[in-house]
Amino acid sequence: MGFKNLLLFFVAFINFQSPFFLPINNTNRKKVSEIQLTEIGKFGLIRKARKTVPSHIHTGIDIKRPNKNYFDEPIFPIAKGKVISKRTDGPYAQLIIEHEINNQTFWTVYEHIAGIKANLNEIVSPGKPLARFMNTNELNKYGWQFDHFHLEILKIKPIQITPDKLHPDRCYNSFSLICYKASDLEKYFYDPLEFLTEHLD
Ligand SMILES: [Zn+2]
Repeated sequence: MGFKNLLLFFVAFINFQSPFFLPINNTNRKKVSEIQLTEIGKFGLIRKARKTVPSHIHTGIDIKRPNKNYFDEPIFPIAKGKVISKRTDGPYAQLIIEHEINNQTFWTVYEHIAGIKANLNEIVSPGKPLARFMNTNELNKYGWQFDHFHLEILKIKPIQITPDKLHPDRCYNSFSLICYKASDLEKYFYDPLEFLTEHLD
């Protein structure tokens, strides 16, 4: 093997490890089967209308807390990226991250999270927690239906919005509540479990 071939081999070897990880702290952050969804947490489920929300398709997955830690259970980004939007209003707290990996641009949304540690425009990586699951006090306050976090993976850049006084770092909105047909879902979103399965190894 010549020097050039040896070098190519080495480059291939160091690139072998995928830069993607599960967003939760389980024993193996490379194994999609470790993700447990809530009962109505599947991608593409039809969600009934609620008081302030029209009937729509569930555009992400609802990931269960991986254990009984109701204090500080961490949530991580699935890959390196830049925080482009942040809201911190209680049960609707949300981060949107823009990723550019192997010439593919995509966006991830983390919602119903708490204790956000990342700032707007910060570069985040999967080794460091972004936020955590709601703790017991927060769930008692906002409702135990939020005992999960909602993850979306977007194919298309989210909708730019103007931040306001209440949400000074909220710069983008997802397409979550404007998906009424399977074709809308397909246009804007990846199925997170499929996406992770494809990219984890
Ligand atoms: Zn959800």
